[in-house]
Amino acid sequence: MSTAKIVLATRNEAKLTELRRILAASDLAIELVGLPDGEEVAETGTTFAENALIKARAAVEATGLPAVADDSGLAVDELAGMPGIRSARWSGRRDGTREQRDEANNALLLAQLDDVPAERRGAAFVCAVALVTPEGVERVAHGKLRGALLNAPRGQNGFGYDPLFLADGQTGTNAELTAAEKDAISHRGRAFRELAVVIGQVLVP
Ligand code: IMP
Repeated sequence: MSTAKIVLATRNEAKLTELRRILAASDLAIELVGLPDGEEVAETGTTFAENALIKARAAVEATGLPAVADDSGLAVDELAGMPGIRSARWSGRRDGTREQRDEANNALLLAQLDDVPAERRGAAFVCAVALVTPEGVERVAHGKLRGALLNAPRGQNGFGYDPLFLADGQTGTNAELTAAEKDAISHRGRAFRELAVVIGQVLVP
């Protein structure tokens, strides 16, 4: 059986690892390749779906291959859905390592919710994932994980806002779940499993 080659349009190592794992579990005859070095594309969209499409289109342009890209973030009820598409850069810090930027984002979010009681600390991780082909087929799948934000970080796994986020029905934060446990419930896991079905219909011979 021949395999379809797809470029995964992200340079975020933590996400790349997660996405490879999720797509590998989908049993599709696909080969994932990374994004070649080049200019970072500006995420100028106003929604997760627009940004995912922008990144996937740019990857098709750069490689001539079908491309998959995701955009994701945390939507906090008390903050009217923010940080949303601004999740990665919420604290404004651009220097330092990814871990240092994550820490700064988490510290700012905790400060913003300082006086907010438990019943108003609801939030959702949201993900849009786009498939774009060189022939111009464009599809988007969505995933969401509802939960609540704690008052202090807990756990060492995952990345980003994971240590603050207790998913509905869980006793451990996202950063206390194993990778497999997180994939099973996560916004990205859900979106990618849905997209895997679309990839099967559109690409796999
Ligand atoms: P993106 O790379 O533009 O999609 O930015 C996503 C940002 O949203 C990340 O840098 C994190 O701050 C946050 N985020 C998205 N997904 C997750 C997750 O699974 N756990 C924790 N934070 C996440």
